[in-house]
Amino acid sequence: MDLVNISRPRYTNKLDQVQGLSDRERQELQPVAEKFAFRTNDYYQSLIDWSDPDDPIRRIVMPDLQELDEFGEMDASDEHSYTVRKGLEHKYGDTALLLVNNVCGAYCRFCFRKRLFTDGNDEVTNDITDAVAYIEQHPEINNVLLSGGDPLIMSTGKLSKIIKQLRDIQHVRIIRIGTKMTAFDPYRILNDPSLLEMLSEYSLPDRKIFVMAHFNHPRELTEPALKGLQLLQKAGAITVNQSPLIRGVNDKPEIIAELFGRLSFNGVVPYYLFLCRPTSGNEPYMVPVEKGLEIFEEARRRLAGLAKQARLCMSHRTGKVEVVGRMNNKIVFRYHRAPNPVDCGRVMVFDSNPAAGWLDDYMRSETVNLKLSPQVHTVSA
Ligand code: SF4
Repeated sequence: MDLVNISRPRYTNKLDQVQGLSDRERQELQPVAEKFAFRTNDYYQSLIDWSDPDDPIRRIVMPDLQELDEFGEMDASDEHSYTVRKGLEHKYGDTALLLVNNVCGAYCRFCFRKRLFTDGNDEVTNDITDAVAYIEQHPEINNVLLSGGDPLIMSTGKLSKIIKQLRDIQHVRIIRIGTKMTAFDPYRILNDPSLLEMLSEYSLPDRKIFVMAHFNHPRELTEPALKGLQLLQKAGAITVNQSPLIRGVNDKPEIIAELFGRLSFNGVVPYYLFLCRPTSGNEPYMVPVEKGLEIFEEARRRLAGLAKQARLCMSHRTGKVEVVGRMNNKIVFRYHRAPNPVDCGRVMVFDSNPAAGWLDDYMRSETVNLKLSPQVHTVSA
């Protein structure tokens, strides 16, 4: 498909409308798309090499039968426990997370928040009055992250109203927009000058708007995508990237190195590389923690300083846990962020477990071996 002909991508949530799939694939994958929502658009599909069944871009958005295996939880990081108002999470003192939308440009099969896309979920609200009041009453909140779903699926008019309300709160210094539209549909940016005007108006010299982009693979960095990033930067937004490490998508050092390198050349600082959360349906996408560390370290060896700013982290229910390194038969973690600030920087050391996919796998074995309560086992930092 020719990219130049897709300046207004068409969206679909029907496998039947995906021309690259065979009839048999459509039929086989239908139960997966019924269990976990499916959505794509023709721009993003045009990036897929349909002759390759293992194509990494295909893997990002096309269902996999293994998603049907019993695995994980819908809310693997227990976001529910940190929800303080409808649509508002407050886990880390200075940062609030506002869920403004429950639709994305396409649905990543490995999404950690796929519960939002299921029928009957009502975590997201259009009326953010309570959420804004909560942020006003909490002067320690200087960062607000807009997420969902994807805030850039909303009209610029709707998004502007939210951003204006947050800008009117003096202690909110940074507003972050978490979005994969830069990859899924860069024409959202290219075709809407009012979005860029809004960013210019509200991204101020000392109160910036950050666009938290979500590129998983270097093939997503197309000409329109790079142009979109340039326009966001020109409008005054700071651009960074966060991506999960996904089996069959980017679980190779050369892919991560190319992704981070090219992002950095384009003024997008790699911020986080996340281990895939053990969310329902995510088993086929998870990379074991220690394998992930090997990939990350090997990628870092190939990169210059600005391209290797990212930390390898898990968004665990107890905090944001950085995978620091391995020593002999031990693995070292550190709390990069924690709900209780005294835990920030706390180091944890566990016996190596090459099969572990998540912090709980290490905690469980320590609990058994050391007969500790199921709390975090720590050693001195
Ligand atoms: S862009 Fe983010 S919220 Fe949307 S489907 Fe992908 S991972 Fe989930």
